[in-house]
Amino acid sequence: MAFSIGIDLGGTKIAGVLVDEELHILAEEKILVDREKRVEKVIGDIELLVRGFQEKGEGECWGVGLALPGLLDWEKGGIALSENLNWRDVPVIPLLKEKLPLSFFMEHDVRSGAVAETYFGAAQSFQDVLYISVGTGIAGSLIWKRNIIRGAHEASAELGHMVIEPNGPLCRCGNAGCLETLSSGNAMERDVFHLTGKHIKGEEIFSRAREGASPYQEVVKRASAFLGLGLFNLVQIFDPEVIILGGGVAEAGEWWVETIEEEYQNRFFWTPTIPPLLLGRFRSRASVMGAAALPVLYKRGEYVRSIY
Ligand SMILES: [Zn+2]
Repeated sequence: MAFSIGIDLGGTKIAGVLVDEELHILAEEKILVDREKRVEKVIGDIELLVRGFQEKGEGECWGVGLALPGLLDWEKGGIALSENLNWRDVPVIPLLKEKLPLSFFMEHDVRSGAVAETYFGAAQSFQDVLYISVGTGIAGSLIWKRNIIRGAHEASAELGHMVIEPNGPLCRCGNAGCLETLSSGNAMERDVFHLTGKHIKGEEIFSRAREGASPYQEVVKRASAFLGLGLFNLVQIFDPEVIILGGGVAEAGEWWVETIEEEYQNRFFWTPTIPPLLLGRFRSRASVMGAAALPVLYKRGEYVRSIY
């Protein structure tokens, strides 16, 4: 028997899972990130999560995989820059290794989701995959012949910041009309607030939209239409075999995919094969599951960038 641990460090939450050799979840936990985002406190919290899982796990610990936000420092094993955490040059893995004598692995959080879907999820039978994660924001990852395309500056597949509507809403990146400002969970919540004056959570918006209630249905359909357009543009550039839709909004299920399909399918005229849109298996859990998958994939000799 063996087990692995996955930790997804986000701007507001730390998610952890304990998995077996086949990536079945044995235990799961979520805690809030320290409000001031102090490095020492956050590292201490991750240490406690890992120790808790170690006590529950049976047999050998294959290691701890971390899904980290921002720009990663592969040499040191940590974060070079994270806007969400307001961290710069934090050697996350060396700090954890001082306390925990285990093998560590890391991956960028969105790419970690793509790893989970590629090796254990909806993209298992495909080679060339475009993964898009739609949650509070939008991000993505490209997997070509089962390799992550990282780009010359580790900045590839920032799909959320493609400008789709030049006169659209302002984006946190400084541009206007990025896909993220039109199609993300936050974008839908903002639109509903403008129309109703009420703060309504994404899940609630979707359940009302499915019942056909106005203006929820219009808001979701508009956001999905922009997403369909963005995905169509991406197919023109990359010609993937499949597009996997993950992230928190994917919890809305097949109905959401159908609303995207309308715009997506209608754009194609001469493309011989339209890549299918598939819901990811892990949805909002993709990043933490990808993190837990890293030690497993290392043992199998299938995929790993670095071991620490
Ligand atoms: Zn942007």
